[in-house]
Amino acid sequence: MNKLEIGLIGNPNTGKTSLFNSLTGTYNYVGNWSGVTVEKKVGTLKEINGDLIDLPGVYSLNPLTKDEQVATNYFLNENFDSVINIIDASQLERNLHLTLQIAEYGKPFMIGLNMIDVALRSGMKIDVEKLSSKLGVPIIPLVARTGKGITDLLSILKNNEVKNPNTQLVTFDDEIEQIITDIMVILPKNLPGNARWYAIQILEENEPVLNYLNELVPISSFEKHINQAITFVKEHSSAKSFKQYAHQSRRKAILHLIDDCVIKENTRNISLSSKIDKIVTHKVLGIPIFLFLMFIMFKFTFDWIGTPLSDTLDSFISGPVTDFATRLLQDIGASDFIKAVILNGIIAGVGGVLVFVPQIFILFFFISLLEDSGYMARVATVMDVLMEKVGLNGKAFIPMIIGLGCNVPGIMAARTIEQPRERLLTIILTPLMSCSARLSVYSLFVAAFFKENQAIVVFSLYLLGIITALLLAVIFSKTIFKKEQSYFIMELPPYRKPQWISLFRSTWDKGKGFVKKAGTFIFGGSVAIWFLSYTGPGGFNVPLDHSYLAKIGGFIAPIFEPIGFGTWQAGASLITGFLAKEVVVSTMNIIYHAPNMASLTHVIGGAFTPLSAYSFLVFILLYIPCLATVAVIKKESGSTKWTIFSMIYSFVIAYILSALIYGIGTLLGY
Ligand code: GDP
Ligand code: MG
Repeated sequence: MNKLEIGLIGNPNTGKTSLFNSLTGTYNYVGNWSGVTVEKKVGTLKEINGDLIDLPGVYSLNPLTKDEQVATNYFLNENFDSVINIIDASQLERNLHLTLQIAEYGKPFMIGLNMIDVALRSGMKIDVEKLSSKLGVPIIPLVARTGKGITDLLSILKNNEVKNPNTQLVTFDDEIEQIITDIMVILPKNLPGNARWYAIQILEENEPVLNYLNELVPISSFEKHINQAITFVKEHSSAKSFKQYAHQSRRKAILHLIDDCVIKENTRNISLSSKIDKIVTHKVLGIPIFLFLMFIMFKFTFDWIGTPLSDTLDSFISGPVTDFATRLLQDIGASDFIKAVILNGIIAGVGGVLVFVPQIFILFFFISLLEDSGYMARVATVMDVLMEKVGLNGKAFIPMIIGLGCNVPGIMAARTIEQPRERLLTIILTPLMSCSARLSVYSLFVAAFFKENQAIVVFSLYLLGIITALLLAVIFSKTIFKKEQSYFIMELPPYRKPQWISLFRSTWDKGKGFVKKAGTFIFGGSVAIWFLSYTGPGGFNVPLDHSYLAKIGGFIAPIFEPIGFGTWQAGASLITGFLAKEVVVSTMNIIYHAPNMASLTHVIGGAFTPLSAYSFLVFILLYIPCLATVAVIKKESGSTKWTIFSMIYSFVIAYILSALIYGIGTLLGY
């Protein structure tokens, strides 16, 4: 039997990825907001010998954004066998727009009616059988996140019970139907999918569809029909475009369907969500509430749980692990060189970064909690007002929040932004978000200089990153980026009780990059840095001050003299930090040659002053995106010019801000 290919399609945030994960037994990023899945993902369906494709969420097959095109192009170019359309049962009216378009396309499909639990709780009863017979395809009620209904869904696939839908659920005015028929006559034969669907999409001026057809027939042959349709629509309906007219017609059909198949009972339950929303999306209170929650998050990360855990891990690595490695190396008779590489290079460099894992994971746990509960979507709404003032839109806030974990996926998430300019601006500004790698540098320095105020100091750095991004957005959108009309569509998902498994998974998902990097980049970087510190113009095992590392660091050090940290050690860490920002910590561990965190913070305490330390942290926050981020900026913007721009502007801003802080601080006598 041939391998089946099944596509998974639906509106954003309806549970596609949750279903994909439980059907294929893999894990992908599940997030309670739209725009999380931006590329299609493939998983294996063992039970039926097939592949399942998780497509990005779309509201329509006529795409607005780049990631929405993935779904439309999938319909045009892939030879799939059937489709599972995931619908949020509690949002039927909005979800069915897409369903009707899939039905018009005409290939066999089935519906997964997800979030039945939410629908029931809000007092909705759906007559599944009736809806199924009207649409002509099987419908399986689901609760994707607990796995309820999945066996039923699988058995439909297994027994090949997906059906060809009723393709004429929406009928248009007679004149339009005539135009549709006229187009169908001149369409090429043997298109994948129904000719009627193509005709409607042509009238809607669906770009991927027009591009696709253009290879087969000149698009100009449809111009006449498109104009006829627009003229009719403008004269006979309230719509301003055919697209809008089609939307209105589908809406009418949907309201009929809902009237027939849904019984809505009165409840008081829904109001709790809207009561909470009244407070957290309040015009004045919204942002302070968000800041307060962030602050509490940092309290947990530093003062309450994270730091004690990191300290414990540190004494474990600097104690038993180091002792064990030393004894082992002794026993196998390793040479002094090998001993030095392992103990002073690898263990110091990699271990020095790994001790921050607890703090990083705790921070991510709280971010995941806020995401999964549905709160982050509210934050985006709250921020929209502010974002619009600075020339972005609320959607830009999501890449930025994701960027707090790691800038790389943050920048990729900017694909959900419709306007190319706003997308580019978001890509360029997201690296200012303080990622987990920088957190390790902060942790080291706040332990050395700001013992009493760790949370507030780190919080100030995160805020500084966000504020700088917003201010630069204003400046850039007034100068190099001219403003375009933007609009913000983000529906508020209902609040959900976060689930442990999914919380741990998304925490791991965000943090795993950090752990992985420790084994690759940081490992390699540590060995290289150690080697540069071990060798010099004078040969091997030179005093540190005569090493190549000292020479290189010393060469650029004068640049940083005016902003408070003109030592070769700081210079060397900043250069190596371009590899990955954690490498700053590795470098310091290697350079200062400290047996554990306590003694490292002690040495650093002597090398900086609190003021120069803060200036250094601000510089670390802003100075240049790391190597991986630069690569993804290049890939996503497709422009060398903007990539170089983003490296240069961030360096300049970092220098200016550090200079201001150091200068003003010195004047004030710190
Ligand atoms: P996608 O954007 O369509 O891929 O949706 P996700 O799979 O990322 O899920 C969005 C959110 O809905 C997550 O917070 C899920 O935990 C939650 N979710 C998924 N399925 C269900 C369900 O059946 N019931 C409830 N209450 N929540 C669900
Ligand atoms: Mg998804």
